[in-house]
Amino acid sequence: MLHQSRLADNLALVRDSIQQAARRADRDPNSITLVAVTKYVPGEVVLSLHEMGVRDFGESRPQVLWEKAPALPADIRWHLIGHWQTNKVRRTLPYISLVHSLDRISLAEELSRESQRLGKVTPVLIEVKIVADEAKHGFLPDDLMSALATIRELPGIQINGFMTMASQGDDAESARPVFRKLCEYRNQQQVSLGVPLPMLSMGMSQDFAVAIEEGATHVRVGSTLFEGVVDA
Ligand SMILES: *Cc1c(COP(=O)(O)O)cnc(C)c1O
Repeated sequence: MLHQSRLADNLALVRDSIQQAARRADRDPNSITLVAVTKYVPGEVVLSLHEMGVRDFGESRPQVLWEKAPALPADIRWHLIGHWQTNKVRRTLPYISLVHSLDRISLAEELSRESQRLGKVTPVLIEVKIVADEAKHGFLPDDLMSALATIRELPGIQINGFMTMASQGDDAESARPVFRKLCEYRNQQQVSLGVPLPMLSMGMSQDFAVAIEEGATHVRVGSTLFEGVVDA
């Protein structure tokens, strides 16, 4: 069964932590978007969060989005946050409001083709691999400049900023240098490209407060929201 009151409590705690972190960093809490990562939970939990006012939801797998999105309220903004296959773009694109995980040129090219076919412009974030880890995806910092130069020429895609993943399992403070680096790269590329890159997607359950102190505009929070909410 679904424990609604526990979900409401968890959400209130996360929102409160976002507010406090924003205040510590002298930032407007309204400039930070909580993306509720619902890959762990069924559609009914998404619906409960929707009733509590959440509109931004993240999924890491296109197949899950195909099932959930058509069955849930149309005012939900779906964020694609995981590594995904190029051959899934056509079917997934109609649901997506922001791609956080643009991690290779071939995906950018397919997004460009399909966005043009639909007559839309797809907002994307470029995933940057700051922590060298074989299991992680994204562009290496050294390749960012040339990747951005290529991607910005593709019609149908708008680069809105950067996304990164810190190492899992480390404590929140150890993620700080990673988040700070992403912010620095963003600041550099903004100047060299001469375009604004306002969005930084960084921070998950264990380290979203630190990410906000370092400039995150989007935090992707999953497990903390759902602790004790769904019975095993
Ligand atoms: C699962 C996932 C999250 C949420 O992680 P939690 O630690 O459960 O908050 C955030 N970002 C990405 C890319 C994910 O895959």
